[in-house]
Amino acid sequence: MIETDFQQAQLDSAVRAARRERTAHDALGGRRWYAAPLAWLDYETARFSRWVDCRLIPDAQWDELAGKDIARCLDRFGDFQQTLRNPFHPRTLDMLDQVVPFVMERRGVHDGFSDVVDDLPPLAHRLSPDVIERFVRIEIARRQAIAADPVVLVRHQAAELHSAQSHRQGEQWLIVQHKASGMRARFMHRPDRDDRDGTVFARPYDIDSIDPDRIENPQDRAPEWRDYAGLGIGTRLYLRAAEELPDVRWGGTSYSQYAEPLRAKLHAIDPWRWRSRTCTCYAAWGDLTPQTAAEVAHDPAPEES
Ligand SMILES: [Zn+2]
Repeated sequence: MIETDFQQAQLDSAVRAARRERTAHDALGGRRWYAAPLAWLDYETARFSRWVDCRLIPDAQWDELAGKDIARCLDRFGDFQQTLRNPFHPRTLDMLDQVVPFVMERRGVHDGFSDVVDDLPPLAHRLSPDVIERFVRIEIARRQAIAADPVVLVRHQAAELHSAQSHRQGEQWLIVQHKASGMRARFMHRPDRDDRDGTVFARPYDIDSIDPDRIENPQDRAPEWRDYAGLGIGTRLYLRAAEELPDVRWGGTSYSQYAEPLRAKLHAIDPWRWRSRTCTCYAAWGDLTPQTAAEVAHDPAPEES
């Protein structure tokens, strides 16, 4: 934390120096040093302190700063495209001719230094069209490689309930975790009851990792679904849970917008096992049997108004 504050202070200092340099340059107004010695001295001093500040910031910090800035711009791009796919989904490759100018236009806006990007050479270089494009391509490949890793860990255990949850005594948990990404979900069910309706809890940051090799920062425990949305990790975790617990049906009425397309996909694969809000069978789903689930119509439910 202290280190981060220190790094932030250095960056703020560089941004201020760049602004002073620009003001001093304007004040000099093209005059030579002997025509305006004091204005010239101001300008040279500001230019030197901007140069020193830039040198004091390590390359790794410039990389991190530029990377975060590009990622935020791509999040905005995704918002405009109205897609829930992660912004570094391979389909972004087809839109690079729109993505790169979009990022160029919004460089530094989020952190409030857009006016001086071109005055800070290490940043101007990292936020230039060619380097932005290279960064996006590398990040897409990196996330794809992580998502493609097949290793999935599972753990069956008794529910960890605190005293206020004693009514849930007897609940069993299945935790399924994708090793490479750390994405995970908890599948909760009641083997002691006849109705085999299970519920899914899918906030990775609220589920303890079951991977002994994984080291996590308590403040930032797991990636979020949106970091990998659209790359198939969720589908793999949910199908693995169904394989582990073949008798359980997964109802559930509250899930996030990221889980919605996943539920629809799972429902299409096995309508009896997975309930989906977006299907016309939603209301009657509880009474379906494997037999009747195969017979009833499964149409897209009309949009809620
Ligand atoms: Zn259906």
